[in-house]
Amino acid sequence: MYKAPRGTSDILPQEQGYWKYVKEKAASLCQLYGYQLLTTPILEDYQLFSRTVAGGTDIVDKEMYTFEDRSGQKLALRAEGTAPVCRAYLEHGLFNLPQPVKLYYIGPVFRYERPQAGRYRQHHQFGYEALGEDDPALDVEVIEMAQQFLLSLGLSEFSIHLNSIGCKLCQPKYREALKQHYSSYTPHLCPDCKIRLVRNPLRLLDCKKASCQKIAETAPKITNYLCPECQAHFHNVQRYLGALGIPFQLNYRLVRGLDYYTRTVFEIEPQEEGAQSALGGGGRYDNLIEQLGGKHTPAVGFATGVERLILNLKRQKIKAPYLPRPVVFIAYLAEEAKIEAIKLAFELRQAGIAAIKATGDKSLKGQLRQANSLGTNYAIIIGEKEIKNQTAVLRDMITNKQKTIPLAKIVSTLKQSQVSK
Ligand code: AMP
Repeated sequence: MYKAPRGTSDILPQEQGYWKYVKEKAASLCQLYGYQLLTTPILEDYQLFSRTVAGGTDIVDKEMYTFEDRSGQKLALRAEGTAPVCRAYLEHGLFNLPQPVKLYYIGPVFRYERPQAGRYRQHHQFGYEALGEDDPALDVEVIEMAQQFLLSLGLSEFSIHLNSIGCKLCQPKYREALKQHYSSYTPHLCPDCKIRLVRNPLRLLDCKKASCQKIAETAPKITNYLCPECQAHFHNVQRYLGALGIPFQLNYRLVRGLDYYTRTVFEIEPQEEGAQSALGGGGRYDNLIEQLGGKHTPAVGFATGVERLILNLKRQKIKAPYLPRPVVFIAYLAEEAKIEAIKLAFELRQAGIAAIKATGDKSLKGQLRQANSLGTNYAIIIGEKEIKNQTAVLRDMITNKQKTIPLAKIVSTLKQSQVSK
């Protein structure tokens, strides 16, 4: 028996209500804030990720799904959402439009991770990006949208963690200071952190191992190293958030997993969970588009995992609205009635009434059991007697009351009952 590959899963019909709910809330949020949908391919040039997400991050080192196609081109499955948006921004000359350009996406992301609750090898991200502007008000808009999105879903038990990690000017000095601090503890570092110390010192702060966290506690703080421009930017982000009354917690150890971030970084944590379970995260990436060959283009964005949102909806006992069910199930007895059922199903669908017709030669009991499990409001039963009289039995599946009505009146009766619902 084949199974879906480890860390991937089928989204069964009974789950689709949640997916529709999340996607619709995402689309209406973006509509409200003026972000337009951009759909990029699931495949990208490997280097799009390897160059931007940068070496020293787990995604590039261990987690990317890469392969060579038949022409020998090295491709990667989408490993995150921001770099493809920036690639499309450059490829289609969106920098010629009035800036900022505001885009959103929703689609699968692939990472070879160790599967566990809320962590999969294929997951889906909803994200949005505002490109071409460095105003801190835009950082705040992106954070505000994240907060409003979660609230609109009915999620309330979360907190916003905020930090600034500086720019090209101030970050190198801070990296140096971090290196110095951690170098005196080298023998106590976990194997990953020994590598981070050389390749990506910022991520030392992010390590979840207790022994490394202890060393992080006494590490120098980025805020003492920010250049005046970054300081002013960070100050304004906090001021505007304050003006909106959006609660946040400063977290000087927050650096985010991807390497391209500058200045503002933020993460949204569910209240009861550990650090592994961020609901979403984002920040500013003022150098990424330049890294991809464009002009200097400041930008800011956010992404959240749909599976993790749904997990939290369920934890917080929030039910997604039911998906519409077919209205009517048509049961028949005997071959002549079957032809009438086929014709009636066609007429109902023509009239816009969702209908399911029985198939095969199940007993009436079996057919009604099927109607029950499909959750239709009505069943229509056509037997020999009904054919003779050109009638049908219309059964209300909720009250179990039934009445006989002329075949010619079925469509109008059901239409009326739908209108009155
Ligand atoms: P990132 O691109 O790592 O910043 O992730 C953005 C969001 O996507 C996270 O906050 C999670 O909600 C979600 N996410 C990231 N990785 C996974 C994964 N492996 N499985 C499920 N959700 C994920």
